[in-house]
Amino acid sequence: MPMKASAFSYARATSVVNALELLAAHGDKAKVLSGGQSLMPAMNLRLISPELIVDIGAIAELRGIAVAGDVITIGALTRHVDLARSPEIAAHAPLLTEAIAHVAHPAIRNRGTLGGSLAHADPASELPACMVALNATIIVSGQSGERRIAAEAFFTGIYATALSAQELLVAIELPVQRKNSVHFFCEFARRHGDYAIVGLAAQAIVESGVFADLRLALFAVGDRPVLAKAAAKLVNTLITPAVLFDACADLGEELDPQDDQQASGSMRRHLAKVLLARCASALLERPDLQARKSV
Ligand SMILES: Cc1cc2nc3c(=O)[nH]c(=O)nc-3n(C[C@H](O)[C@H](O)[C@H](O)COP(=O)(O)OP(=O)(O)OC[C@H]3O[C@@H](n4cnc5c(N)ncnc54)[C@H](O)[C@@H]3O)c2cc1C
Repeated sequence: MPMKASAFSYARATSVVNALELLAAHGDKAKVLSGGQSLMPAMNLRLISPELIVDIGAIAELRGIAVAGDVITIGALTRHVDLARSPEIAAHAPLLTEAIAHVAHPAIRNRGTLGGSLAHADPASELPACMVALNATIIVSGQSGERRIAAEAFFTGIYATALSAQELLVAIELPVQRKNSVHFFCEFARRHGDYAIVGLAAQAIVESGVFADLRLALFAVGDRPVLAKAAAKLVNTLITPAVLFDACADLGEELDPQDDQQASGSMRRHLAKVLLARCASALLERPDLQARKSV
């Protein structure tokens, strides 16, 4: 198995405009380089062999976290470690702070970027699911202007997104979490830092012990993050073990997880139901819901 990439040309983009010109000129033959934590391994294994690498790492305007009104804007080049240490993210999108700890290891988090992770779109990746749970907007730029894409529509398949080869993911917008917001993140993985076997990122609003809103984004259960429709069963209703059992059953039917060397599809389906029960129990502070022979 080759461990060195095929020969390629390299260009260091000086601005977003310059990066877009390079991408437009080279089309499918060019690849954007952010942190390189997914791109370089794929090139070294010769899974991909781009002719030109467009390094966007020096474009300062793509970095940083800003809060204005009820929106948090995160530049595409913001690294995992920057998110993990950000007081703004901890205060306004704590789901992300918690999830980042499960992304790979410190060496990878020191270089890997949010934009890179979303553009890479690994279905077992934590951050795409968080974006879906948080109802993020992904902002992409092309020569004809900017597009704003809801996270749910951005991920289109395994390693596939709504981005064209001529576009750059430039930023992510998240709503500042509202009053009574709570979140849950949990994944099953062989070892901490491994890609998940099944995971759940959830964001909810709880009022008087009832979910007023609940977004459940599951990952590693299909070709992209799944926003579970089963959540609707749990909103605006008093949750009993029977209600939760029904929602778990719906979730099981809704998912069609793959078999692979990590787990069978039926095991993934079972684990997803276990995560849903844990999530409801934790967010509502109802340990009784965890006594769920029913799941
Ligand atoms: C050993 C190992 C373990 C890992 N474990 C995990 C894990 O548990 N969970 C997890 O989520 N990830 C994991 N990763 C991946 C890691 O999080 C990467 O950092 C991330 O997936 C990609 O970010 P990057 O900035 O390095 O992107 P790059 O590797 O530079 O790029 C990735 C892809 O996105 C494209 N791209 C990058 N930026 C842009 C942009 N702004 N606009 C358009 N296209 C762009 C590139 O062309 C490339 O196709 C792991 C990686 C390794 C090597």
